[in-house]
Amino acid sequence: MIQVLRSVRVLDAGRGSDDATRIVDILVDGMKIGRIADHLDPPMGASVVDASRYLVTPGFVNAHGHLAMTILRGFADEVPLDAWLRNYMFPREALMNGDDVYYGALLALAEGIMSGTTTFADMYFFEDDVARAVDEAGVRANLSTGTASLDDERGRLEKSEEFVVRWNNKAGGRIKASFGPHAPYTTTPAFIRENFERARDLGVIVQIHLHETREEITGFTKAYGASPITYYAEQGFFDNSPRLLAAHCVHMTPRDTAILRDVRASIALNVRSNLKLGSGIPDYRLLLGSGVNLCVGTDGAASNDNVDMLEELRVLGLVMKGSTMDASGISNASLLAMATANGAGALGFDDVGTLSEGAAADLVFWDLEDESLCPGNNMVSHLIWSANSRAVDSVMVAGSWVMEHRQLVGIDLDKVRFEVARRARRLASG
Ligand SMILES: [Zn+2]
Repeated sequence: MIQVLRSVRVLDAGRGSDDATRIVDILVDGMKIGRIADHLDPPMGASVVDASRYLVTPGFVNAHGHLAMTILRGFADEVPLDAWLRNYMFPREALMNGDDVYYGALLALAEGIMSGTTTFADMYFFEDDVARAVDEAGVRANLSTGTASLDDERGRLEKSEEFVVRWNNKAGGRIKASFGPHAPYTTTPAFIRENFERARDLGVIVQIHLHETREEITGFTKAYGASPITYYAEQGFFDNSPRLLAAHCVHMTPRDTAILRDVRASIALNVRSNLKLGSGIPDYRLLLGSGVNLCVGTDGAASNDNVDMLEELRVLGLVMKGSTMDASGISNASLLAMATANGAGALGFDDVGTLSEGAAADLVFWDLEDESLCPGNNMVSHLIWSANSRAVDSVMVAGSWVMEHRQLVGIDLDKVRFEVARRARRLASG
């Protein structure tokens, strides 16, 4: 199917300034952007959409999260990571079933789509039910079974690998699968090594939480003599070009950072989760100057507490500027790239995250009549520093609409709200 999006406004940083926009026609050919030009004559049979009311951008890529945790939202607000996990999350997660995960994931996907996200990362359990939700919602995702190795290492590895084989490159290429060893403090180094080896064999990425709290590093160093990143590198886990997506990386030395740069790893920053759990604030000057591919994630909604990339990006930008006492250390265009193309690359979607010919047609249509985008004199600036997610009018993924004029196409939101509330009550009383 061929669609022509007529007279859309697009960002045009290629003209040398962040604030440039231009009006173009976009031809969507199947799942991809076929052509972008000042004017296009629609081919025979093409559907033509008057999109003159919209700013069109690539969809956001949420590079780290646990979608189903919307169902645990609000259960614990005033505790640090360790107590939050062990006293509040793990006991309730033990009571969850596949349908709880399915509806929790759908709620997160709905929130994400409605605030302009088209690609998601996930690490959780009952991951087949997350894949089912992603497929129905029509979005793109890289999914992993989150695994700890405290018991039955072999069985957990086998299950992770079976999931990867079952789901990688499925749903018309919208779903990729990966390995998800949870964190250094819930796994053994031997387990981490094996995850990397299997991921390398299958050509998929490894998602892992790394260097999230100071306690994680202190405890690991006491046991193994070095920080997790340094120890894994010394043990050769990162040899032979693994594809590593490290979430958090709040507490990093220049050496840790250089290791990640040298193995071409990506870091998913989760500023709001780190702030709320009291985990700390990264040395952004170090990270920004390191050459590591930086991207942005919301983390799970039980620690954040929503799945809104616009909010995440804004807080990230504010904390970067504030904590480095440098208003010019990060440009609007760089922030936007972290939330789009950088994240897509980290998740293995190489043709996602840019508005260019041949790229995936994953597009967000922002209503130019929304007051948060007025007066329109610098659209990148308005997006990052002012836009409200209600300005997201419509969203397209792989050339298909997943939301039209605020109506979700593949998700029955009333039913999802009802199911999540009912199931959250059950978990609260458990
Ligand atoms: Zn996480």
